[in-house]
Amino acid sequence: MKNLLDYTLAELENELNPKFRAKQIYEWVYKKGVSSFDEMLNLPKPMREQLGKEFYFDPLNCVKAERSSDGSIKYLFELKDGYRIESVLLPMKEEESDEDGKISRHARYTICVSSQVGCRMGCSFCLTAKGGLTRNLTPGEIVGQILWIKNHNKIPYERRVNIVYMGMGEPLDNLTNVSKAIKILMENDGLAIGSRRQTVSTSGLGSQIKKLGEMDLGVLLAISLHAVNNDLRTKLMPINKAYNIEAVMQAVREFPIDMRKRVMFEYLVIKDMNDSIKDAKKLVKLLHGIKAKVNLIYFNPHEGSEYGRPELEDMLKFQEYLRDHGVTCTIRQSKGLDISAACGQLKERSENVGS
Ligand code: SAH
Ligand code: SF4
Repeated sequence: MKNLLDYTLAELENELNPKFRAKQIYEWVYKKGVSSFDEMLNLPKPMREQLGKEFYFDPLNCVKAERSSDGSIKYLFELKDGYRIESVLLPMKEEESDEDGKISRHARYTICVSSQVGCRMGCSFCLTAKGGLTRNLTPGEIVGQILWIKNHNKIPYERRVNIVYMGMGEPLDNLTNVSKAIKILMENDGLAIGSRRQTVSTSGLGSQIKKLGEMDLGVLLAISLHAVNNDLRTKLMPINKAYNIEAVMQAVREFPIDMRKRVMFEYLVIKDMNDSIKDAKKLVKLLHGIKAKVNLIYFNPHEGSEYGRPELEDMLKFQEYLRDHGVTCTIRQSKGLDISAACGQLKERSENVGS
């Protein structure tokens, strides 16, 4: 059986005769959110039966959903081969002001998706790193996370959704499948999620950042920086030995990003390790000349981790220093701290329950 969600529209057209059926199927799956070929009423019955024998489009089985007090929901999915991944739905309010300056608030959704089962980058603060890499997700398994979450939350088709590749795994270590998922999500006859609404987050694989740039997809880039000196960064992220801070910054400078949008730098703040004003100062220097946006993330302690959660006061001082020096800086509100929102934590917990 083949996963229908692995197919771009052009690929699906090549599979079908007549070709125009592909567009109809795409609309049923992505716009109307049906769950079986039987519901695709404008397809001839024999074709629906044939499709049902060849394809499926439900690659994920949700085994657990945890809702946080702030409204975010974390899902644990089981794949066809039994491995597990997670995704998070983050509802947010987006403010927009019209010509008269009147402010209206819209519900906006961000979906955080996984790109691999596990991860081989070995970051010392991250739970996903623990078991190493099991396998890459297929394009259809990535697309499936978004489709499932949209359907089960009855998010209307027209409602804009942002995608962040910040779940389990390193997306640039699975660039072939991730880039294909990006394209499938962008299809106008499908979910039509524009590239500007998709953000790829990376631990800094320099050569892969270059490749992503060459693909010219138009997606936004987020860099997990987390430290401003190479010794500490190597301790936190072994990948820093291959691509150190200077190499990552160089790759960012060469990234062909539309200048209207900024590169996001994620900075995981760990108590007494990288939370001082000295660090903030160095960060401002590093970002000089780059249209950057910094997102400070509270380190979320987990069992067995040697690091501590930073103080609110230090976070605020850090943020203030950056802002005072012209760098846009937000603090990621710990969405769903009560459900362990940092990557890898839900999976870890539920597996412990069983053992
Ligand atoms: N591999 C990519 C994709 C996202 S990793 C990358 O590293 O950029 C998932 C996200 O979870 C990253 O932003 C990472 O910084 C964050 N994270 C991992 N462990 C965490 C923890 N213990 N507390 C808070 N955030 C954590
Ligand atoms: Fe992998 Fe990202 Fe976790 Fe590092 S932080 S181990 S790159 S998922």
